Amino acid sequence: MSGNQDALLNGLVGLSRSLGRPERDLVILGEGNTSVRLDDESFLVKASGTSLAGADPGSFVKMDFGRTLALLDLRDPADDELGEALMGARSSAEGGLRPSIEAPLHALALTEGEAAFVGHTHPTSVNSILCSDHAGRLSEGAIFPDQIVVLGRHPLHIPYSDVGLPLAHALRDGLQEHKRRVGTPPKTVYLQNHGLVALGSSASEVEQITTMADKHARIMAGVLAAGEPVYLTAEQADHLDTRSDEEYRRRVFQGNR
Ligand SMILES: [Zn+2]
Repeated sequence: MSGNQDALLNGLVGLSRSLGRPERDLVILGEGNTSVRLDDESFLVKASGTSLAGADPGSFVKMDFGRTLALLDLRDPADDELGEALMGARSSAEGGLRPSIEAPLHALALTEGEAAFVGHTHPTSVNSILCSDHAGRLSEGAIFPDQIVVLGRHPLHIPYSDVGLPLAHALRDGLQEHKRRVGTPPKTVYLQNHGLVALGSSASEVEQITTMADKHARIMAGVLAAGEPVYLTAEQADHLDTRSDEEYRRRVFQGNR
């Protein structure tokens, strides 16, 4: 790989190990996966059976965007047929690592979703809400300003789908509908009864989105225990959204507000 691609791989390893830290309670065992766009043709995604906490440069598989996205056109493939097709979507047939079953989801997030880095986790805090009849509360509105700055004005909620191709189809439909409605892709995607997908322009943005989504979900759990959420008005949210430029984000994270 080129020097730039080595830097991207190093960023992906660092992000993966950070998201996998046990005390953060975002994933356990082999849960969750991460990816990075290398160029117009290829991306790296976590290999199946590896853990985020123990990620190293050998934990990722290089995939071809065109062949991975073509998996979405398979009609009801059997498990072994899909497994073979996933192996065939690798950039190179060398090596035995099997890509994550969520490789098509990552390919979509890195193309249709316009992300450079993607982090998919199963945070206990977020799933406590997503597995309840209040799941929609996470994406219905904003309850505090930094939520909008970090998670975006319009998070996307995807109804429950089986992992693999059904989930990838649901994400594709959701991203396309979201872009038609809002004009830009979401930064934050909530998967009903499943977990969180952070779409970042950098590894550190994926880190920030995941950290804020965790905090937001813990606040929402407290809100729902205390009463009903009081959402900011559309006018208040729009005002914050138009201020969520890079300079404002920097001030938020340096605490100079
Ligand atoms: Zn998952």
